[in-house]
Amino acid sequence: MTKPRLLWINILVFLTTFSIAVIAVPYHALTHGFDSFEIIAALICFCFCGMSITAGYHRLWSHKTYQAHPVLKFIFAIGGAFALQNSILHWSSDHRVHHKHVDNNDVDPYSAKRGFWYSHIGWMLRDYHADTYSNYDNVRDLQKDKIVMWQHKNYLLLSIITNLGIPIALGLLNGDLLSAVLLIGVFRLVMSHHTTFFINSLAHIWGKQTYTEKNTARDNGILAFFTFGEGYHNFHHIFENDYRNGIRWWHFDPTKWLIKSCSYLNLTHKLRKTPEDKIAKAKARMQLVNSQKRVHVKENAEELMAKLQHEYEVLIEQMNLYYETKKQLIAAKSCQISEEVERMQLKQRYSEIKENLNQHMKNWNSLRSQYA
Ligand SMILES: [Zn+2]
Ligand SMILES: [Zn+2]
Repeated sequence: MTKPRLLWINILVFLTTFSIAVIAVPYHALTHGFDSFEIIAALICFCFCGMSITAGYHRLWSHKTYQAHPVLKFIFAIGGAFALQNSILHWSSDHRVHHKHVDNNDVDPYSAKRGFWYSHIGWMLRDYHADTYSNYDNVRDLQKDKIVMWQHKNYLLLSIITNLGIPIALGLLNGDLLSAVLLIGVFRLVMSHHTTFFINSLAHIWGKQTYTEKNTARDNGILAFFTFGEGYHNFHHIFENDYRNGIRWWHFDPTKWLIKSCSYLNLTHKLRKTPEDKIAKAKARMQLVNSQKRVHVKENAEELMAKLQHEYEVLIEQMNLYYETKKQLIAAKSCQISEEVERMQLKQRYSEIKENLNQHMKNWNSLRSQYA
Protein backbone atom coordinates (compact mmCIF):
# COMPACT_ATOMS: atom_id res chain seq x y z
CA MET A 1 0.00 0.00 0.00
CA THR A 2 1.38 3.42 -0.96
CA LYS A 3 1.76 5.97 1.78
CA PRO A 4 -0.35 9.16 1.66
CA ARG A 5 1.37 12.19 0.11
CA LEU A 6 3.67 14.28 2.28
CA LEU A 7 2.34 17.64 3.48
CA TRP A 8 5.36 19.76 2.66
CA ILE A 9 4.08 23.03 4.15
CA ASN A 10 3.56 21.37 7.55
CA ILE A 11 6.93 19.60 7.35
CA LEU A 12 8.68 22.85 6.48
CA VAL A 13 6.99 24.83 9.29
CA PHE A 14 7.69 22.18 11.95
CA LEU A 15 11.25 21.51 10.79
CA THR A 16 12.32 25.15 10.42
CA THR A 17 10.82 26.35 13.70
CA PHE A 18 12.16 23.33 15.61
CA SER A 19 15.69 23.76 14.18
CA ILE A 20 15.73 27.45 15.10
CA ALA A 21 14.45 26.66 18.62
CA VAL A 22 17.10 24.03 19.36
CA ILE A 23 20.08 25.60 17.53
CA ALA A 24 19.72 29.34 16.94
CA VAL A 25 17.93 30.19 20.21
CA PRO A 26 20.51 28.53 22.57
CA TYR A 27 23.35 30.00 20.45
CA HIS A 28 21.81 33.46 20.70
CA ALA A 29 21.26 32.99 24.46
CA LEU A 30 24.97 32.18 24.96
CA THR A 31 26.45 34.83 22.66
CA HIS A 32 23.96 37.66 23.11
CA GLY A 33 21.55 36.75 25.90
CA PHE A 34 17.85 37.50 26.38
CA ASP A 35 16.65 40.22 28.75
CA SER A 36 13.86 39.86 31.32
CA PHE A 37 11.36 41.73 29.09
CA GLU A 38 11.81 39.13 26.34
CA ILE A 39 11.62 36.18 28.74
CA ILE A 40 8.46 37.45 30.49
CA ALA A 41 6.81 38.38 27.18
CA ALA A 42 7.59 34.92 25.76
CA LEU A 43 6.12 33.28 28.87
CA ILE A 44 2.94 35.38 28.69
CA CYS A 45 2.54 34.62 24.97
CA PHE A 46 3.13 30.90 25.67
CA CYS A 47 0.35 30.91 28.29
CA PHE A 48 -1.93 32.93 26.00
CA CYS A 49 -1.49 30.38 23.19
CA GLY A 50 -1.72 27.33 25.48
CA MET A 51 -4.83 28.44 27.37
CA SER A 52 -6.57 29.56 24.16
CA ILE A 53 -6.22 25.96 23.03
CA THR A 54 -7.10 24.23 26.33
CA ALA A 55 -9.85 26.56 27.59
CA GLY A 56 -11.06 27.70 24.15
CA TYR A 57 -10.51 25.12 21.38
CA HIS A 58 -10.74 22.14 23.72
CA ARG A 59 -13.07 22.66 26.69
CA LEU A 60 -15.30 25.39 25.20
CA TRP A 61 -15.71 24.56 21.51
CA SER A 62 -14.88 20.84 21.17
CA HIS A 63 -16.71 19.69 24.31
CA LYS A 64 -19.05 22.58 25.21
CA THR A 65 -18.29 22.13 28.91
CA TYR A 66 -19.31 25.76 29.57
CA GLN A 67 -20.52 28.86 27.75
CA ALA A 68 -18.48 31.99 27.22
CA HIS A 69 -18.97 35.70 26.59
CA PRO A 70 -18.16 36.79 22.98
CA VAL A 71 -15.24 38.90 24.26
CA LEU A 72 -13.60 35.81 25.78
CA LYS A 73 -14.35 33.78 22.64
CA PHE A 74 -12.69 36.47 20.52
CA ILE A 75 -9.57 36.40 22.74
CA PHE A 76 -9.36 32.58 22.45
CA ALA A 77 -9.86 32.76 18.66
CA ILE A 78 -6.88 35.14 18.35
CA GLY A 79 -4.77 33.04 20.76
CA GLY A 80 -5.58 29.88 18.80
CA ALA A 81 -4.38 31.45 15.54
CA PHE A 82 -1.25 32.61 17.39
CA ALA A 83 -0.72 28.98 18.54
CA LEU A 84 -0.81 27.91 14.87
CA GLN A 85 -2.90 24.78 15.37
CA ASN A 86 -5.41 25.23 12.55
CA SER A 87 -8.84 26.86 12.92
CA ILE A 88 -11.26 26.24 15.81
CA LEU A 89 -13.65 24.51 13.40
CA HIS A 90 -11.04 22.12 12.04
CA TRP A 91 -9.38 21.42 15.39
CA SER A 92 -12.71 20.71 17.13
CA SER A 93 -13.88 18.46 14.29
CA ASP A 94 -10.69 16.37 14.56
CA HIS A 95 -10.95 16.28 18.33
CA ARG A 96 -14.56 15.11 18.38
CA VAL A 97 -13.59 12.26 16.05
CA HIS A 98 -10.69 11.45 18.40
CA HIS A 99 -13.09 11.07 21.35
CA LYS A 100 -15.74 9.16 19.44
CA HIS A 101 -13.31 6.69 17.88
CA VAL A 102 -10.40 6.84 20.34
CA ASP A 103 -7.60 4.33 19.54
CA ASN A 104 -9.27 3.22 16.32
CA ASN A 105 -6.32 3.37 13.93
CA ASP A 106 -8.49 3.86 10.85
CA VAL A 107 -10.62 6.72 12.16
CA ASP A 108 -9.01 8.42 15.20
CA PRO A 109 -6.93 11.21 13.52
CA TYR A 110 -4.14 10.87 16.11
CA SER A 111 -4.63 7.34 17.36
CA ALA A 112 -2.12 6.52 20.12
CA LYS A 113 -2.18 2.89 19.03
CA ARG A 114 -0.16 3.93 15.97
CA GLY A 115 2.72 4.84 18.27
CA PHE A 116 4.31 7.88 19.89
CA TRP A 117 5.61 9.56 16.71
CA TYR A 118 2.34 9.25 14.80
CA SER A 119 0.12 10.55 17.63
CA HIS A 120 2.57 13.33 18.49
CA ILE A 121 3.32 14.85 15.10
CA GLY A 122 3.41 12.18 12.37
CA TRP A 123 -0.33 12.46 11.72
CA MET A 124 0.20 16.03 10.49
CA LEU A 125 3.10 15.24 8.15
CA ARG A 126 1.18 13.15 5.61
CA ASP A 127 -2.32 13.49 4.18
CA TYR A 128 -3.71 10.54 6.18
CA HIS A 129 -7.29 11.79 6.29
CA ALA A 130 -7.69 13.51 2.93
CA ASP A 131 -11.24 12.18 2.51
CA THR A 132 -12.49 13.74 5.76
CA TYR A 133 -10.31 16.87 5.72
CA SER A 134 -13.07 19.37 5.07
CA ASN A 135 -16.03 17.36 6.27
CA TYR A 136 -17.37 19.39 9.15
CA ASP A 137 -20.59 17.45 9.73
CA ASN A 138 -19.72 16.77 13.38
CA VAL A 139 -19.34 20.49 14.19
CA ARG A 140 -22.61 21.83 12.76
CA ASP A 141 -23.27 23.59 16.08
CA LEU A 142 -19.99 25.48 15.74
CA GLN A 143 -20.88 26.56 12.21
CA LYS A 144 -23.58 28.73 13.82
CA ASP A 145 -20.96 30.47 15.99
CA LYS A 146 -20.03 33.75 14.26
CA ILE A 147 -16.60 33.99 15.91
CA VAL A 148 -15.73 30.40 14.93
CA MET A 149 -16.66 31.00 11.29
CA TRP A 150 -14.95 34.39 11.16
CA GLN A 151 -11.74 32.82 12.49
CA HIS A 152 -12.05 29.85 10.10
CA LYS A 153 -12.38 32.12 7.05
CA ASN A 154 -9.54 34.41 8.10
CA TYR A 155 -7.33 31.79 9.77
CA LEU A 156 -4.29 32.17 7.53
CA LEU A 157 -4.28 35.95 7.75
CA LEU A 158 -4.81 35.90 11.54
CA SER A 159 -2.02 33.38 12.11
CA ILE A 160 0.41 35.43 10.00
CA ILE A 161 -0.55 38.72 11.70
CA THR A 162 -0.21 37.27 15.22
CA ASN A 163 2.93 35.18 14.63
CA LEU A 164 4.80 37.96 12.85
CA GLY A 165 3.08 41.07 14.20
CA ILE A 166 3.24 40.36 17.95
CA PRO A 167 6.98 39.39 18.14
CA ILE A 168 7.97 42.24 15.76
CA ALA A 169 5.93 44.82 17.70
CA LEU A 170 7.40 43.65 21.02
CA GLY A 171 10.91 43.62 19.50
CA LEU A 172 10.57 47.19 18.24
CA LEU A 173 9.16 48.27 21.59
CA ASN A 174 12.13 46.75 23.41
CA GLY A 175 14.71 47.84 20.81
CA ASP A 176 15.93 44.31 19.88
CA LEU A 177 14.04 42.82 16.96
CA LEU A 178 16.09 39.65 16.44
CA SER A 179 15.92 38.50 20.09
CA ALA A 180 12.14 39.01 20.19
CA VAL A 181 11.57 37.13 16.92
CA LEU A 182 13.73 34.23 18.14
CA LEU A 183 12.27 33.90 21.64
CA ILE A 184 8.70 35.26 21.47
CA GLY A 185 8.20 34.28 17.84
CA VAL A 186 9.86 30.92 17.26
CA PHE A 187 10.76 29.43 20.65
CA ARG A 188 7.32 30.23 22.12
CA LEU A 189 5.63 28.62 19.07
CA VAL A 190 7.67 25.41 19.26
CA MET A 191 7.07 25.07 23.02
CA SER A 192 3.38 25.72 22.52
CA HIS A 193 3.18 23.16 19.71
CA HIS A 194 4.93 20.30 21.48
CA THR A 195 3.29 20.75 24.87
CA THR A 196 -0.12 20.50 23.15
CA PHE A 197 1.05 17.54 21.05
CA PHE A 198 2.06 15.75 24.27
CA ILE A 199 -1.64 15.45 25.13
CA ASN A 200 -2.19 13.28 22.05
CA SER A 201 0.99 11.28 22.50
CA LEU A 202 2.32 11.04 26.09
CA ALA A 203 -1.08 11.49 27.78
CA HIS A 204 -2.13 8.29 25.99
CA ILE A 205 1.01 6.38 27.00
CA TRP A 206 2.37 7.53 30.37
CA GLY A 207 0.39 7.57 33.62
CA LYS A 208 -2.44 5.92 35.50
CA GLN A 209 -5.75 4.61 34.27
CA THR A 210 -7.72 5.89 37.26
CA TYR A 211 -11.26 5.72 35.91
CA THR A 212 -11.32 3.50 32.82
CA GLU A 213 -9.20 0.92 31.02
CA LYS A 214 -11.39 1.07 27.91
CA ASN A 215 -9.01 3.45 26.12
CA THR A 216 -5.32 4.39 26.25
CA ALA A 217 -5.80 7.78 27.99
CA ARG A 218 -3.77 8.28 31.17
CA ASP A 219 -3.81 10.58 34.23
CA ASN A 220 -0.43 12.19 34.77
CA GLY A 221 0.26 15.08 37.18
CA ILE A 222 3.68 15.86 35.67
CA LEU A 223 2.18 16.20 32.22
CA ALA A 224 -0.61 18.34 33.65
CA PHE A 225 2.06 20.84 34.74
CA PHE A 226 3.25 21.37 31.15
CA THR A 227 -0.19 21.26 29.51
CA PHE A 228 -2.24 23.72 31.60
CA GLY A 229 -4.01 20.87 33.37
CA GLU A 230 -4.76 18.59 30.43
CA GLY A 231 -2.62 15.78 31.84
CA TYR A 232 -5.59 14.27 33.68
CA HIS A 233 -6.54 12.70 30.40
CA ASN A 234 -8.03 9.43 31.66
CA PHE A 235 -10.63 11.42 33.60
CA HIS A 236 -11.19 13.62 30.57
CA HIS A 237 -11.87 10.74 28.18
CA ILE A 238 -14.51 9.18 30.41
CA PHE A 239 -16.13 12.47 31.55
CA GLU A 240 -15.55 14.72 28.54
CA ASN A 241 -18.41 17.10 29.38
CA ASP A 242 -16.77 18.21 32.64
CA TYR A 243 -15.11 21.65 32.48
CA ARG A 244 -12.43 20.30 34.83
CA ASN A 245 -9.72 17.77 34.01
CA GLY A 246 -8.04 17.76 37.42
CA ILE A 247 -10.98 17.42 39.80
CA ARG A 248 -9.28 17.67 43.21
CA TRP A 249 -8.32 21.07 44.60
CA TRP A 250 -4.65 20.06 44.64
CA HIS A 251 -4.66 18.94 40.99
CA PHE A 252 -2.73 21.36 38.80
CA ASP A 253 -5.36 22.54 36.34
CA PRO A 254 -4.91 26.25 35.47
CA THR A 255 -7.47 25.90 32.66
CA LYS A 256 -10.10 24.95 35.25
CA TRP A 257 -9.04 27.88 37.47
CA LEU A 258 -9.26 30.28 34.52
CA ILE A 259 -12.76 29.09 33.52
CA LYS A 260 -13.98 29.27 37.14
CA SER A 261 -12.40 32.71 37.75
CA CYS A 262 -14.01 34.06 34.58
CA SER A 263 -17.40 32.93 35.90
CA TYR A 264 -17.08 35.49 38.75
CA LEU A 265 -16.64 38.18 36.07
CA ASN A 266 -19.66 36.86 34.11
CA LEU A 267 -17.38 35.94 31.21
CA THR A 268 -18.22 32.24 31.53
CA HIS A 269 -21.38 30.48 32.67
CA LYS A 270 -23.16 27.09 32.77
CA LEU A 271 -19.98 25.30 33.90
CA ARG A 272 -20.69 21.56 33.66
CA LYS A 273 -19.54 19.09 36.30
CA THR A 274 -19.85 15.30 36.46
CA PRO A 275 -22.00 14.09 39.41
CA GLU A 276 -19.74 13.03 42.30
CA ASP A 277 -21.24 9.54 42.56
CA LYS A 278 -20.45 8.72 38.93
CA ILE A 279 -16.79 9.64 39.48
CA ALA A 280 -16.54 7.66 42.73
CA LYS A 281 -18.14 4.57 41.17
CA ALA A 282 -15.93 4.68 38.08
CA LYS A 283 -12.86 4.87 40.33
CA ALA A 284 -14.04 1.94 42.52
CA ARG A 285 -14.79 -0.18 39.45
CA MET A 286 -11.30 0.48 38.11
CA GLN A 287 -9.82 -0.48 41.51
CA LEU A 288 -11.77 -3.75 41.34
CA VAL A 289 -10.49 -4.46 37.82
CA ASN A 290 -6.87 -3.79 38.88
CA SER A 291 -7.14 -5.93 42.03
CA GLN A 292 -8.73 -8.78 40.04
CA LYS A 293 -5.80 -8.70 37.63
CA ARG A 294 -3.35 -9.08 40.55
CA VAL A 295 -5.36 -11.79 42.29
CA HIS A 296 -5.87 -13.76 39.09
CA VAL A 297 -2.41 -15.37 39.26
CA LYS A 298 -2.57 -16.38 42.96
CA GLU A 299 -3.18 -19.93 44.19
CA ASN A 300 -6.54 -19.34 45.89
CA ALA A 301 -7.63 -16.92 43.15
CA GLU A 302 -11.26 -17.99 43.11
CA GLU A 303 -11.79 -17.39 46.83
CA LEU A 304 -10.01 -14.02 46.72
CA MET A 305 -11.97 -12.94 43.65
CA ALA A 306 -15.26 -13.71 45.42
CA LYS A 307 -14.14 -11.74 48.48
CA LEU A 308 -13.16 -8.75 46.34
CA GLN A 309 -16.43 -8.87 44.40
CA HIS A 310 -18.45 -9.01 47.64
CA GLU A 311 -16.61 -6.06 49.24
CA TYR A 312 -16.99 -4.09 46.02
CA GLU A 313 -20.74 -4.68 45.91
CA VAL A 314 -21.11 -3.61 49.55
CA LEU A 315 -19.10 -0.48 48.80
CA ILE A 316 -21.31 0.43 45.82
CA GLU A 317 -24.44 -0.08 47.96
CA GLN A 318 -23.01 2.21 50.64
CA MET A 319 -22.14 4.78 47.99
CA ASN A 320 -25.67 4.73 46.57
CA LEU A 321 -27.11 5.25 50.05
CA TYR A 322 -24.66 8.04 50.86
CA TYR A 323 -25.21 10.04 47.66
CA GLU A 324 -28.99 9.58 47.83
CA THR A 325 -29.08 10.89 51.42
CA LYS A 326 -26.78 13.75 50.47
CA LYS A 327 -29.22 14.74 47.71
CA GLN A 328 -32.13 14.64 50.17
CA LEU A 329 -30.22 16.78 52.64
CA ILE A 330 -29.41 19.41 49.99
CA ALA A 331 -33.08 19.43 48.89
CA ALA A 332 -34.24 19.81 52.51
CA LYS A 333 -31.84 22.71 53.08
CA SER A 334 -33.23 24.65 50.15
CA CYS A 335 -36.85 23.86 51.03
CA GLN A 336 -38.36 26.51 53.34
CA ILE A 337 -41.33 24.43 54.50
CA SER A 338 -39.29 21.44 55.66
CA GLU A 339 -39.57 20.92 59.38
CA GLU A 340 -36.58 21.69 61.57
CA VAL A 341 -36.92 18.34 63.39
CA GLU A 342 -37.07 16.40 60.13
CA ARG A 343 -34.04 18.21 58.85
CA MET A 344 -32.07 17.45 62.02
CA GLN A 345 -32.98 13.76 61.75
CA LEU A 346 -31.87 13.70 58.14
CA LYS A 347 -28.60 15.39 59.06
CA GLN A 348 -28.01 12.80 61.77
CA ARG A 349 -28.73 9.95 59.32
CA TYR A 350 -26.41 11.51 56.75
CA SER A 351 -23.54 11.66 59.28
CA GLU A 352 -24.03 8.00 60.19
CA ILE A 353 -24.09 6.91 56.54
CA LYS A 354 -21.00 8.99 55.81
CA GLU A 355 -19.20 7.37 58.74
CA ASN A 356 -20.27 3.94 57.44
CA LEU A 357 -19.05 4.69 53.95
CA ASN A 358 -15.69 5.89 55.28
CA GLN A 359 -15.34 2.65 57.25
CA HIS A 360 -16.11 0.60 54.14
CA MET A 361 -13.69 2.64 52.12
CA LYS A 362 -10.98 1.76 54.69
CA ASN A 363 -11.89 -1.95 54.52
CA TRP A 364 -11.85 -1.84 50.75
CA ASN A 365 -8.46 -0.10 50.61
CA SER A 366 -6.88 -2.48 53.13
CA LEU A 367 -8.26 -5.51 51.23
CA ARG A 368 -6.81 -4.16 47.98
CA SER A 369 -3.46 -3.40 49.58
CA GLN A 370 -3.24 -7.04 50.77
CA TYR A 371 -3.32 -8.12 47.12
CA ALA A 372 -0.99 -5.41 45.86
ZN1 LIG B 1 -11.05 16.24 24.66
ZN1 LIG C 1 -7.09 11.92 23.99
